[in-house]
Amino acid sequence: MVEVRIENLVKTFGETVALRGVNLHIKHGELFTLLGPSGCGKSTTLRAIAGLDYPDSGHIYFGDEDVTYQHPSKRGAVLVFQNYALWPHMTVFDNVAYGLKLRKAPKEEIEKKVKWALELVKLKGFEDRYPTQLSGGQQQRVAIARALVVEPRVLLLDEPLSNLDAKLRLEMRSEIRRIQRELGITVIYVTHDQEEAMAISDRIAVMNVGTVEQVGTPKEIYETPRTEFVASFMGKTNVIPARVVERDGDKVRVEFEGITLDGLRYTEKSDNVVIVIRPERIKLKPVENAVSFTGTVDLIEYYGFFIEVVGLFGDTRIIARTISDREVSHLKPLQEVTFYVDRDDIIVLPRQGL
Ligand code: ATP
Repeated sequence: MVEVRIENLVKTFGETVALRGVNLHIKHGELFTLLGPSGCGKSTTLRAIAGLDYPDSGHIYFGDEDVTYQHPSKRGAVLVFQNYALWPHMTVFDNVAYGLKLRKAPKEEIEKKVKWALELVKLKGFEDRYPTQLSGGQQQRVAIARALVVEPRVLLLDEPLSNLDAKLRLEMRSEIRRIQRELGITVIYVTHDQEEAMAISDRIAVMNVGTVEQVGTPKEIYETPRTEFVASFMGKTNVIPARVVERDGDKVRVEFEGITLDGLRYTEKSDNVVIVIRPERIKLKPVENAVSFTGTVDLIEYYGFFIEVVGLFGDTRIIARTISDREVSHLKPLQEVTFYVDRDDIIVLPRQGL
């Protein structure tokens, strides 16, 4: 178990710059997630930590030890692949025992540790089965047992749940969290699924085109995104292009679709902004400290435990979410609707790519 520090990691593949100077500090014993869209550099970062690829420049430290160019077998970081990579011709026992046999561990130690690892992943009694005789979730557990049996300093998981169906995904998500807590091991987890990242992580790094845009707890990332990209990547949210039309100290008045909202906090230079409002923060009744805007109802969508009202303001669609049936029962498409939002629930950010 160890802390991992990554400094200025750069990696190119021919013309493609996969990592453009990645910096991360992963604390010991934490479940840390690299989250981002396809191609943003998550797997490249993980492979560099595992030692399967070397970076062009930058450093990776495990504790005080610089492991950047150390052989994978020496550094004690084990990567569990998305497709599990179990050996089909070996039993569960032999798959899990493999790393220990390579190290020429004594027979009794191998038996003891394999037993421990299989109990940990709740696969006691499956020792003699072959991978083809296991479900996807069970194969995943074998892969995790195989990684843990060698007592790695860091466990690396690359999209570990992507081959499982929705129900099993939820189950394995909790299992991974349980095992991580039980062992207190440092885990670096890669996913492109923001909900999975929120549910499982102590902290998340949101990556975009080879850089880290923000690091924080799930709550920090969700509630106080620092860039437009992070705001729009973290679930269904309203990201509305707008312009700053007046400034007064750290407060601004912004305009979109002829609607002005005043008294919003914003201190950056650019007047080209987005206003970020989470759907659940929009109310259909007046609230304190609120700005309001009036448009027409475009759609009302029932999701069971919540309901969404999609309002149309000029050409801009804004989604409000409520859990109260009563609040929306009087609304119909094309009818006028007013949305209210507490100013403190509105985030103004510079528009990216301008
Ligand atoms: P995904 O979720 O799709 O796996 P990712 O975030 O893990 O994506 P990486 O696999 O790290 O992204 O890839 C980052 C960039 O580097 C991409 O543009 C990818 O095409 C490129 N890349 C990665 N590996 C190689 C390689 N071996 N050769 C050439 N280009 C590569």
